[in-house]
Amino acid sequence: MKRIYLDNNATTQILPEILDYVQPLFKDCFGNPSSIHQEGREARILFDEAREHVAEMIHAHEDEIVFTSCGTEGANHALKGVAYAKHTKGNHIITTQIEHPCVLNTCNYLQSHGFDITFLPVDSCGLIEPDDVKKAIKPGTILISVMYANNETGNLLPVEEIGGIAREHGILFHSDMVQALGKIDIHMERLPVDIATFSGHKVYAPKGVGALFVRRGIEMDNLIHGGHQEQGRRAGTENIIGIVAFGKACEIIKNELTVETKRIESLRQRLLDGILKRIDHVRLNGHPTLRLPNTLNLSFEYVEAESLLTALDIHGIAVSSGSACASGSSEPSHVLLSMGLAPEVCQSAIRFSLGRINTEEDIDYVISVIPDIVKRLRALSPLCKP
Ligand code: PLP
Repeated sequence: MKRIYLDNNATTQILPEILDYVQPLFKDCFGNPSSIHQEGREARILFDEAREHVAEMIHAHEDEIVFTSCGTEGANHALKGVAYAKHTKGNHIITTQIEHPCVLNTCNYLQSHGFDITFLPVDSCGLIEPDDVKKAIKPGTILISVMYANNETGNLLPVEEIGGIAREHGILFHSDMVQALGKIDIHMERLPVDIATFSGHKVYAPKGVGALFVRRGIEMDNLIHGGHQEQGRRAGTENIIGIVAFGKACEIIKNELTVETKRIESLRQRLLDGILKRIDHVRLNGHPTLRLPNTLNLSFEYVEAESLLTALDIHGIAVSSGSACASGSSEPSHVLLSMGLAPEVCQSAIRFSLGRINTEEDIDYVISVIPDIVKRLRALSPLCKP
């Protein structure tokens, strides 16, 4: 049976052209880029090229890119790095209730070590009011951290306005841009963001590689101490193959971003229209327009998301019942809960996240099987009165 993968916000499949490019490197490119002999120089050339592609993708300078192992490391580095560097100036950090656990739990850790954290609420669409950020600022505020795109709803948050507020008050601004990368154009030269977190495996590169954007002149502590790699910001011999793959992914995606974004957005619309036409009592979670082109979060009333996910999986379709990190627990999504949705609406929510590998046929297949599955599951639900 053909598998239809609609869980691209959890992770993506490595693009075949990236695989073809990096596979020979496992054998041929083993040098340490810090070494000055030929093997080292060869690795350095590829490594520098990858940095160029990542920087170009987000319109940043090459020396503003720090390669990491993943988005989680980047967020830890940003939050702890600023907190420890600025603790003599203040101990207050502002973030939102809908951040990924890599930000939320780092903030919880910092809170347990004496930092004062404000977790701002969102409205029923899952958006944050820039004015609420302004009101939360205190004399000791050292950092604001707000994600660009939410992984569960796809909502785009007003980082430009929030960054402007941070600048006005001389406060550093970090944004988790893991889900935004490769789905919308990111212009670090225009955005008032000081530090931003990215991850390779969300953009068709392998797991184990990420990047942190650190604007020139920003001072923060290191997370990992050791050698002088990454302009002294991140120690450890670099994951060359992962980094090269990440660079290649950025090169490919950047060249096709406009066309692919349009294509994926129209597939997402086809999926939404097809579902709404055939199934009643379906609710769109998140903002109807201010969101990523690929993400669709729907609550199928009177249906347990876990049961729907399992039934779709049996039919060859991979979706998510929330963020990958939250699944496995039966707790309703913290993102949907903070939007004020009833627990039963949260528990019936499915996230479809489309990617480059998806086609119209994939979407039509999903539309053709999902009505019967939902009907069958509703028939078993004691809450559903047909
Ligand atoms: N931030 C967001 C918004 C994410 O969706 C994820 C992954 O799901 C991460 C951060 C963490 O990235 P990584 O899996 O590379 O640690």
